[in-house]
Amino acid sequence: MKELLQTQMMNHLWEIQLKGGYINDEDVKRLAHQFNLSETEVEGVVSFYHFFHRKPTGKYTIYLNNSIVADIKGFSRIKETLERETGAVFGSVDRTGTFGLFLTPCIGLSDQEPSALINFYPFTNLNAIKIKDIIASLKKGADPAAICDTPAVNIRYSPQGSKSFFFKEFIDGKKWDAAKSQPSLPKYVICNADEGEPGTFKDRVLMQTQAKSLIEGMLICGYTIGSEYGIIYLRGEYRWLKSKLEDAIQEYRNSGLLGRECGGIKGFNFDIRVQMGAGSYVCGEETALLESLEGKRGEPRTKWFFPVEKGYLQQPTVINNVETFCAAARIIEMGTEEYLSLGIPGSPGVKLLSVSGDCKIPGIYEIELGMTVAELLELCEAEDPYYIQVSGPSGECISIKEKYRRISMLDLLARKDIRCGGAFMIFNKQRDLVKVLLNFTEFFKSESCGICTPCRAGNFIIQRKLERLDNGLANEKDLEELKNWGMIMKNTSRCGLGKTATNSLIYAMDKFHSYFSSKLDKEFNGLNLKFDIEAATKEYEKYKI
Ligand code: SF4
Repeated sequence: MKELLQTQMMNHLWEIQLKGGYINDEDVKRLAHQFNLSETEVEGVVSFYHFFHRKPTGKYTIYLNNSIVADIKGFSRIKETLERETGAVFGSVDRTGTFGLFLTPCIGLSDQEPSALINFYPFTNLNAIKIKDIIASLKKGADPAAICDTPAVNIRYSPQGSKSFFFKEFIDGKKWDAAKSQPSLPKYVICNADEGEPGTFKDRVLMQTQAKSLIEGMLICGYTIGSEYGIIYLRGEYRWLKSKLEDAIQEYRNSGLLGRECGGIKGFNFDIRVQMGAGSYVCGEETALLESLEGKRGEPRTKWFFPVEKGYLQQPTVINNVETFCAAARIIEMGTEEYLSLGIPGSPGVKLLSVSGDCKIPGIYEIELGMTVAELLELCEAEDPYYIQVSGPSGECISIKEKYRRISMLDLLARKDIRCGGAFMIFNKQRDLVKVLLNFTEFFKSESCGICTPCRAGNFIIQRKLERLDNGLANEKDLEELKNWGMIMKNTSRCGLGKTATNSLIYAMDKFHSYFSSKLDKEFNGLNLKFDIEAATKEYEKYKI
């Protein structure tokens, strides 16, 4: 596969990061020279990704998930235990340089929280005793690869479900048609395996169990549009799946289904490689992903062209996610007629949902479109559900009063401003809605690429306002401003991250109006009802010189 040199930048950075635990000044100089870039440009790329560091990260680098689901499943206790057992404080490395502790939002294991990555290997269903054992083994020199968990694959089907194994809504062939009609060569097929929306983990399960369907889906796309090159952009959090995918690709090469004249089809050459991301949610946005693949900062492009016109290396490119490619392979196998017979009129097919939070049976659910929220809640044995976040923090929140809404393209999944990643996070009445929203805002604040003001400043302002609300200091004007900022971000941000970051807040303020009113400072005396002197002192100690 002939590609420009800078496209190899991410691979070089990963190699250095994994070998030495960080990227030092000499590395930056060397890479700048090698890629014919300035040192500032290389610095810019390094600093963009959460998993590239300019300071040592310890022999064992531990990333603990701090998503909202982890939070309700015991994150604080795990955090404390890790600090106690390793002697390190989160955000730094212990004095011996052995353990580095870092927080990260959602590692695609919401059905097995609390969870963490150690040297990018998964450790799931953590508790204090398990942490003690893991750290003791590492102190004795254990290899994280040898002692990590294989994340469980929890798949369930609705009673009426097809057991057809992983379909999604009927594939929109527009992208493939558009790429096919482009005269320019070469063309590229890219799998977006960067599902970073907190609460979403269906692509992880698909890659664990259906890697071959993914390869076949990409092959079919390559054949359709006339492409020879496929790339799977795999999120850094799923690094542990890389060798599994590469083994499956090699198997296809060995059997003549990838490479030259695939499957004996004269003139059809197609191959696939895996490219690692490095911890950036915004790279799930198509054009940011393309920038990252080209070895640059993953900043969304100004949309002069669709990727099917000018995508990877300015060539026609189809970008679909893991679920879509797997679905393409299965639809071809079963035939469209059978597929279209599933679901309801106007919304045929089935959908994969990642269910987590306050329920007894979290996992992946394959449902026929048209199922009601109430039926899904019953299936997963939801515990006193009150508030449900559909499609992750950038999606729509619904109240239990809406439980008879249908999960279909005619109702719950119909909104064009919300792309359904299929996450269903369930919260009971004991959960504090403002805390949930604060968690989401912190996530968007740290994932914003910062290139446009509404998103960069808006997330920050919204976080401050929510903190006022949480502390009992907000008044009606604050609520009004919260909503206004939400709308400003929605209407003026440059990419999908900023446009959708306040969806949950806007919906929650409409649907849980009395809850928000109950949080207001009724006296309006400005007294900080929840001033936490311990936290304030801790902050002071941390930053004093
Ligand atoms: S909306 Fe946010 S993530 Fe998107 S370009 Fe603007 S600052 Fe970057």
